[in-house]
Amino acid sequence: MKNEYFVSIDKKSIKANPNAGSTKTFIHGINEIKINFCVFNTGKVGAFMLKNNLGFINPLAVGILQFSFRLKELSRGLIKTLYKKKDLGLLKYVFSIKGSSIICVGSSNSYSNVVIDEDMHLQTINHSPEDKWFYKYKNIKVRCNECGKRFSHTKLECDENYDGSLISSICPYCKTVYCCEVEYEEISEVAK
Ligand SMILES: [Zn+2]
Repeated sequence: MKNEYFVSIDKKSIKANPNAGSTKTFIHGINEIKINFCVFNTGKVGAFMLKNNLGFINPLAVGILQFSFRLKELSRGLIKTLYKKKDLGLLKYVFSIKGSSIICVGSSNSYSNVVIDEDMHLQTINHSPEDKWFYKYKNIKVRCNECGKRFSHTKLECDENYDGSLISSICPYCKTVYCCEVEYEEISEVAK
């Protein structure tokens, strides 16, 4: 006959899950800072763009250019400097900021100041409904039928069969499958 155990829930550990039933978890992604600004499309701006592979837009065809850059982070000092600089100086400055990358260059009909957008991306993780309760099982010792070793029931291992079915109660020492009979108390029988 196999060694049989009943593992009961530690009643003191039962706590209501405030997110019970929820199927979504939101986590904060990385802040993304986007900077838009305009510069007058002078010959010097064109030369800078060509040199740095930002493309080339004929100053005779387009008078004002709008640039969008993405930055990893933005300090107060950086913001101050941004508003002080103009045209080619501003373009050179934003381009030189560590971690900056250009998103787009286009023409603009009007000259606008520096616009800073900060996007806090929220990522959603979908999952099966969260349990109603948090709880822990009492820590009892079990004995392997095969090798006779005694250990905490939490050390029992699980594995998957070839067909995806679960194999449980594997002895952590001799790896015998169903090395003892363990029944776990159901939370539905203790908390409502
Ligand atoms: Zn064993």
